Amino acid sequence: MTTEATTQPEPEITCATCRANCCRLEVMLITDTGVPDHFIALDKWGSQTMARLADGWCAALDRTTFKCTIYDNRPWVCREFAMGDYECIAERTAVQVMA
Ligand code: SF4
Ligand code: SF4
Repeated sequence: MTTEATTQPEPEITCATCRANCCRLEVMLITDTGVPDHFIALDKWGSQTMARLADGWCAALDRTTFKCTIYDNRPWVCREFAMGDYECIAERTAVQVMA
């Protein structure tokens, strides 16, 4: 087993075929990346998070294209979330199970 085999994304996993499953997760705002105020919510501990709408997705997600509307200002957490990593696969699998 090589390290490369475990860190490379599986070829069939791509955001292009995913309905932005990871954009339903809670996203904490840890650094200021310029997220517009109207997309920011406070959690019960008073910490800033990305607001989510009633459908569960992040308020900054375009519901038609499933793309981020604030990509250049997206939070640090979103920048660190890597396509094909463990968390990505877990979210894709969770939605398939619920479907
Ligand atoms: S990072 Fe993963 S879960 Fe998020 S949109 Fe891309 S494929 Fe889907
Ligand atoms: S800020 Fe953009 S990338 Fe991050 S959860 Fe919202 S829509 Fe997805």
